[in-house]
Amino acid sequence: MAGDEGHRDPARAGDGPDHGKEAEIKNKLRDGSVRLYELEKQLPPVDAVRVRREFIEEETGTTLENIGIFSIDVDRASTRNCENMIGTVQVPVGVAGPLAINGEYAKGLFWLPLATTEGALIASVNRGAGAITKAGGAEVRILHDGMTRAPVFAAKSVGHAKEIADWAEAHFDDLAAIAATTTNHGKMTGLVTFVTGTSVFIRLEFDTKDAMGMNMVTIAGAKIADEIAQATGARLIALSGNMCSDKKPAAINGIMGRGRSVVAGVALSHEQIAKILKTDAATMVEVNYRKNLVGSARAGAMGFNAHAANVVAAMFIACGQDAAHAIDGSTCMTTIDATESGVYVAVTLPSLPVGTVGGGTSVDTQQECLKILGVAGGGSPAGANARKLAEIIAAGVLAGELSLIGALAAQHLARAHQELGRGVKR
Ligand code: NAP
Repeated sequence: MAGDEGHRDPARAGDGPDHGKEAEIKNKLRDGSVRLYELEKQLPPVDAVRVRREFIEEETGTTLENIGIFSIDVDRASTRNCENMIGTVQVPVGVAGPLAINGEYAKGLFWLPLATTEGALIASVNRGAGAITKAGGAEVRILHDGMTRAPVFAAKSVGHAKEIADWAEAHFDDLAAIAATTTNHGKMTGLVTFVTGTSVFIRLEFDTKDAMGMNMVTIAGAKIADEIAQATGARLIALSGNMCSDKKPAAINGIMGRGRSVVAGVALSHEQIAKILKTDAATMVEVNYRKNLVGSARAGAMGFNAHAANVVAAMFIACGQDAAHAIDGSTCMTTIDATESGVYVAVTLPSLPVGTVGGGTSVDTQQECLKILGVAGGGSPAGANARKLAEIIAAGVLAGELSLIGALAAQHLARAHQELGRGVKR
């Protein structure tokens, strides 16, 4: 048995489950008269999760004792975050830092929580964080802030399509007022239309404050879409028409921004480059040019960076963000300018959907990671915590980029992975 008894699924050590009732439910699961997802209707969440896990153990001939050990609040997780819950998967979480950040929202030294199974990743970010901190910190700014949802409508003709688009644009204030009836915190801030033949896409943009905002804008978007359909005769085809664009790498997010658009940069002196990164300015510039810019362009990549998604994914998992949005983080562009004193390295993340309320942010372990960063819950003023988190993640990405570009420039990459990822010491 892995783990310690004090952290076991409370359901396993529960105060007396009704074994007769549970055996009957399992029989019904087997004969199909009760569905797996219906267990929470028959049992308290904590028992439903355990019975479902035991059923899967029996069905698959497995022992899921590790999946069954966890500390998070199962009532909340099984009802708000995860359907058909059977337990948890544990991902190791480590820290990189301290990382000095000079943002508009994040100011000071931060320890970054990163959840990962990729050996060498945290060591790499840690090294980059050290370089940034010694150089006085990462300068970070939010360039744009807006979560989007773009319903698609069908028009009767291209003329009708243009009328629908024109009507929506002319009625921005009315549609924003409709949106305001669905949320206390969200505010509609933009509306852009795109017509393709008889398809009309209306890309709605919202300031979602401390929420990542996908549910918020979808709920508001549904009410707005109904109004547009009624007023114009447009047929609503799908509330999400993929011009949003959610969880798909898309140029529109890179150009117009989605979620928090963030830029982070740091100046490194020749001495710092030599001492910490064991390389020189000209080699760093050339690695970035030939790898991140030319190589990415030649590959048709949408991300012009070394491994931004690594840091985004690890911090998203640790901090309860929607992990699928790591795809947006991968569209980061890394630039290195040669300067008289050394280099100026910057990362630009046009699409970083993050929040500190809602979604997975309330899961207990993820909530603790947000606390490490001082951003758990709503900010003061509203929006300040999510923006601070976005700045910290961008600075973390900068640390990762610096370190990997430095390692490539110094030809150290394979050796670091061999030592840290495979435990081979040379
Ligand atoms: P949410 O939990 O659905 O909504 C955020 C909630 O927090 C709102 O009820 C909001 O209230 C409240 N809130 C309290 N304090 C706030 C503050 N300071 N700032 C902003 N809101 C505050 O979360 P969400 O961010 O909108 O959506 C995230 C979830 O959407 C994730 O679980 C994600 O996986 C999922 N998701 C959904 C879709 C979709 O299409 N629906 C797509 C992708 C992902 P008010 O609204 O009343 O202000």
